[in-house]
Amino acid sequence: MYRNNTCGALRITDSNKEVVLSGWVHKSRDKGFVVWVDLRDRYGITQLVFDQERTSAQLLEKARSLGRESVIRVKGQVIERASKNPNIPTGEIEVLVSELTLLNESLLPPFTIEDETDGGEDIRMKYRYLDIRRNPVKENLVFRHKVSMEVRKYLSNQGFIDVETPYLIKSTPEGARDFLVPSRMNEGQFYALPQSPQTFKQLLMVGGMDKYFQIVKCFRDEDLRADRQPEFTQIDCEMAFVEQEDILNTFEGLTRHLLKEIKGVEVDTFPRITFDDAMKRYGNDKPDIRFGMEFGELNKVAQHKGFNVFNSAELVVGIAVPGAATYTRKEIDALIDWVKRPQVGAKGMVYVKCNEDGSFKSSVDKFYAQEDLANWAKETGAKAGDLICVLSGEVNKTRAQLSALRMELAERLGLRNPDEFAPLWVIDFPLLEHDEETGHYHAMHHPFTSPKPGQLELLDTDPGAVKANAYDLVLNGNEIGGGSIRIHDKETQAIMFKHLGFTEEEAKNQFGFLMDAFQYGAPPHGGIAFGLDRLVAILGGQETIRDFIAFPKNNSGRDVMIDAPATIDSEQLKELHLKLDL
Ligand code: ASP
Repeated sequence: MYRNNTCGALRITDSNKEVVLSGWVHKSRDKGFVVWVDLRDRYGITQLVFDQERTSAQLLEKARSLGRESVIRVKGQVIERASKNPNIPTGEIEVLVSELTLLNESLLPPFTIEDETDGGEDIRMKYRYLDIRRNPVKENLVFRHKVSMEVRKYLSNQGFIDVETPYLIKSTPEGARDFLVPSRMNEGQFYALPQSPQTFKQLLMVGGMDKYFQIVKCFRDEDLRADRQPEFTQIDCEMAFVEQEDILNTFEGLTRHLLKEIKGVEVDTFPRITFDDAMKRYGNDKPDIRFGMEFGELNKVAQHKGFNVFNSAELVVGIAVPGAATYTRKEIDALIDWVKRPQVGAKGMVYVKCNEDGSFKSSVDKFYAQEDLANWAKETGAKAGDLICVLSGEVNKTRAQLSALRMELAERLGLRNPDEFAPLWVIDFPLLEHDEETGHYHAMHHPFTSPKPGQLELLDTDPGAVKANAYDLVLNGNEIGGGSIRIHDKETQAIMFKHLGFTEEEAKNQFGFLMDAFQYGAPPHGGIAFGLDRLVAILGGQETIRDFIAFPKNNSGRDVMIDAPATIDSEQLKELHLKLDL
């Protein structure tokens, strides 16, 4: 027997019991006549004591020679500690060891297995199995397990069936590149790994499954922006005979359940805001609404007063930063430099200090009277003591820049409280997005998303104006889920493909199976997918998804532990009928 208790289990009430424990040598203290060893496993730490008077000198010697992270098994008696440690649950007892077996010796680990380790990210990723022994990583994985169990519990109770879909498939257009897998048995042909199970879940609806879910890996070969993984996990869902309202209610329910069970937080309402409004009020389709600083559009009150920069701008827009009227010249200059960084890209920033006495002091006093600035304050909701920051230029760019500034200032002001949760739905997304580079339209969500009723005709005349039955669930400034009501008839789907630039032939080749299925009684259906990695990180009050993935990839998409991707030998290439051209 290796153990009859874990290292986190024993309490003072277990005193005198004979126990067997197994685990890792966390650390030891050698006082000469007595040696203490902290024995660790997933459940906690139990102190072992070896003492020459109560056990044997030989055993003491053996304990003394134990290296960190060695795996041992001990037998002994639970006794009350002389000096107790109130910081750990087993802190009142120790185990007086009578038998010690070294199960496996360990090399000296390349970093300390402590909550605060001396190991940098690279080395910890290379030895991720050692990193996982550390509490912060272990706890994150346990936390992720809890979240995914609650998801399964909730959805299963709501009648959703967990169905697996294949990984070796054909392209699913979610807007990224596919990861391809050559087929040995089918010369010159390739599978694509799913960017999502989108078409399969729709086929499951045609198959009458009615409510489907799956916690599933998706693969997208994108340039890795910060904190993206080439393979990531979705909570993927689809329902038949539903309208948008049914989906929103169901997944509001799931989100409520998770917030309550995992965080003990009850959320009253999930506000709904249209995409257009989100862009107007926050410059962002995933607004963080834990704090205000809503945009105030100033074209009416700031243009045609002699200030050319504003006169020639498509949009003049500002935010009121609470309590920031006290910023020094130096602080404001630093802020201006911040918005001018290439990552943000503003040309400059105009500011107004709203003084406590009701007067205003701005960087454009030459052009604007106090009444003008009072109007700016009104539009941005600024109060005495606030600082109004104003940007101007082309609409979309300026909004994105001011949104970046809003988030940065909120972070600096401590307004992005990780213990507060403010979910909302963003609805009525545009169906299509114009690609500046190619001049083409592509699906903003994906090509299976249905336009809002009655808008199909608009596709010919004003494609950019067509709204979709698509929705995103946003939590604390992150898109945690997104989905749509789908097209479920062949004709509409064909029109969509045409507008997305597919020839009939191409559409048939790529999605013929779906179009075929639509001819055999496809029910109206819709769904959503949540990004599990991000959701878990947010619920865990953290930013980086990598911290919640057991074996993540680095920023170049590499797994540095197993050293993948890697080259393959010429035999394998031949088998696959592949030649490299590097
Ligand atoms: N397949 C979509 C995605 O991965 C989600 C959905 O429409 O259900 O974003």
